[in-house]
Amino acid sequence: MLTLQSIFRARRPVAELALRTPLTPCPALSGEGRQVRLKLETVQPTGAFKIRGAANALAALTPAQAERGVVCASTGNHGRALSHAAAARGIPAIVCMSSLVPENKRQAISDLGAEIRIVGNSQDDAQQEVDHLVQSLGMNEIPPFDHPDIIAGQGTIGLEIMEDWPEVDTVLVPLSGGGLIGGAALAVKSISPHIRVVGISMERGAAMQASLAAGKPVAVPEEPSLADSLGGGIGLRNRHTFSLARDLVDEIILLSEADIAAGMRHLYHHHGLVTEGAAAVGVAALVTGKVASTGPNIAAVISGRNVDPVQFGKVLTGTLPA
Ligand SMILES: *Cc1c(COP(=O)(O)O)cnc(C)c1O
Repeated sequence: MLTLQSIFRARRPVAELALRTPLTPCPALSGEGRQVRLKLETVQPTGAFKIRGAANALAALTPAQAERGVVCASTGNHGRALSHAAAARGIPAIVCMSSLVPENKRQAISDLGAEIRIVGNSQDDAQQEVDHLVQSLGMNEIPPFDHPDIIAGQGTIGLEIMEDWPEVDTVLVPLSGGGLIGGAALAVKSISPHIRVVGISMERGAAMQASLAAGKPVAVPEEPSLADSLGGGIGLRNRHTFSLARDLVDEIILLSEADIAAGMRHLYHHHGLVTEGAAAVGVAALVTGKVASTGPNIAAVISGRNVDPVQFGKVLTGTLPA
């Protein structure tokens, strides 16, 4: 059972491999009775918050399990985090991913020492290879979001926000598979049920939003997006994050590619921050006025910085999106 206590228990293994990140004021979006602060997961060792979940999940393996190694299917940041955490703990790792994953993310993972397998054109194809490795070699699957230890690890972000800013009343969270928002929402709502949790996805392939609308997990077509880390489905046999999102998320906002680019530019010009599209969605929703209702104290999770440099340059100069 996943509880607030699970998230407190994750703190020690998370602290061994991840940073306690700053919650920094954003003056450009603050004023007129509103304060905005940014939770900077961009400074994490592998450039995204996913090191938290990976650290917690690996700490839960028995020595016999650890010896057989770990495997995952990942759009990039989870694979990178798992590779880093596995190397730090001396555990073998294989990362399976689709051909849509950008080259910079593939390279980063192989630099970290994990073996890479490129399989097919979707997250589902990569997942089939994972299933095969689990069955044939007895490796342990560490999925990117739908796992209690992963969700609890990501949830430590919620605890840190509460400690640093007990007056927070609205939390803006990038939403894909829902491990991040599920853990963060469980943490903040267990402490204060009135805190508003807003999930933000891109219009191009918002799997959780489509699933919640359908009342069950559904597949959506994968499309390229500036927020590539938000791509992929939630899994038709989703066990944890669908119900967490259904029960704990107050609002979901969908953004266009132009909105996401505006968020990335804002973070660069006002904070000197290099962010990937997925990380900029909270700020994008504020810049474009798409958040329906918030209280006066808004925290936005800036989830990662692993953007292709050429793509980032095009966003800054306005040649992307076309
Ligand atoms: C994985 C990821 C997300 C989304 O997290 P989920 O747990 O899948 O909802 C957001 N931003 C970045 C940078 C990510 O890597």
